[in-house]
Amino acid sequence: MTYQNFSLAQLQAIDGAHHLHPFTDHKDLRAAGARMITYAKGPFIYDSEGNEILDGMAGLWCVNIGYGRDELAEAAYAQMKELPYYNSFFRCSTPTPVLLSQKLAEISPPNLNQVFYGSSGSEANDTALRLVRHYWALEGKPQKNRVISRQSAYHGSTIAGTSLGGMNAMHGQLYGAVPNIAHVMMPYAYELQHAGESDHDFGLRAAKAVEDEILRAGADNVAAFIGEPVQGAGGVKIPPASYWPEIQRICRKYDVLLMLDEVITGYGRTGEWFAAQSMGIEPDTMTTAKALTSGYQPLSALFVSDRVASTIVEKGGEFFHGYTYSGHPVACAVALKNLEIIEREGMIERVRDETGPYFAAALKERIAGHDLVGEVRSFGFLGAIEIVKDKATKERFAPAGSAATLVRDHAIANGMMLRATGDTMILSPPLIWTKEIIDMACERIVKALDAAKEDLAKAG
Ligand SMILES: *Cc1c(COP(=O)(O)O)cnc(C)c1O
Repeated sequence: MTYQNFSLAQLQAIDGAHHLHPFTDHKDLRAAGARMITYAKGPFIYDSEGNEILDGMAGLWCVNIGYGRDELAEAAYAQMKELPYYNSFFRCSTPTPVLLSQKLAEISPPNLNQVFYGSSGSEANDTALRLVRHYWALEGKPQKNRVISRQSAYHGSTIAGTSLGGMNAMHGQLYGAVPNIAHVMMPYAYELQHAGESDHDFGLRAAKAVEDEILRAGADNVAAFIGEPVQGAGGVKIPPASYWPEIQRICRKYDVLLMLDEVITGYGRTGEWFAAQSMGIEPDTMTTAKALTSGYQPLSALFVSDRVASTIVEKGGEFFHGYTYSGHPVACAVALKNLEIIEREGMIERVRDETGPYFAAALKERIAGHDLVGEVRSFGFLGAIEIVKDKATKERFAPAGSAATLVRDHAIANGMMLRATGDTMILSPPLIWTKEIIDMACERIVKALDAAKEDLAKAG
């Protein structure tokens, strides 16, 4: 590529003239100009001006093995030379998705042995929604089609993904959601736990909201409950340990399918292959994407339980659904190599036993005490920092989200990429972070917090 012949200003002007970005206020963007990321290696990204930035978000929760892995490039190259593409429609298949499916069945919870491929988490959730409704129709219960989700859930940005999700701003622009999807309370202790209520009891109360909705709608009308094991884009909201086992118990009691969205949590982020294993649950569908290829190729895999798959197979008849790129051979070749590297380098065990606990302790010991910080929390390599005006009362700065955005901007200026969502800073590092890198991240975050505090004090 010859972008080096263009100045940053030229690239920004062309970007502004021709490129519409995801989740972006284009008026703002065109006034400011985009930061141009041109290179990345290991845990660092570099912009066109040569700034080195520690990537606290693993891209967008996906680059679990870090940047610059030649082996993935080589796997893609070899596959492209041999067979760049063929589909798996009309009784055809290609070897790489076949072998990837076997590998995925091996690492997933025992009841999940079949996968359906797409190219994104949104597509996978669209498939999941269609599949669970189709399942109940095949079982002779077409009216059992309602899905229960949660406030602030994120399940992607297609119409189905947005409808399943619980983001108010996104719903405001839906102009017609997919019908029969309800949203109940989320297990967000920092804001919703009552004074004197134990974590355990709070988890049970949040799960009870799902049971209440099942009873309200009638169990015969409820197909499934969907949730992220840890709500990601909604602000790394980590439920108490009592929550997921209770959700599973409720789902089983009322014969409601359990749909888990592991698009962020899958492939090692929680210190197990999947958060389902961390939480000790067995979902009926499990959506994965992002770190399946560490972001080197677009690919999603929807895991389908033996129960659901056997009905689809035994009842027969075509499921009228699929994508041109379902089981794309190049993306699957890259995924196979990515999983091999995660395994070979012991990344998951390291997060579970060593760097994950170190990350948790570092946030607590070095970040939690800061005047702007109301709470820190983490689960494996997912972290959150609540930004507040008053630690004791949990009062936030006005307008909502402004203080966290300020912290983010100072963080980037200090060589640290993190994300602000509402008034929560979120972290999702690559699994390759060492203790030294965690120390470096904490130093840079503290600098950003100090700078933001100074600005906020000046502003009154
Ligand atoms: C990112 C994400 C999605 C959507 O994935 P895309 O690849 O962006 O379509 C779905 N669910 C969760 C939990 C996500 O974080």
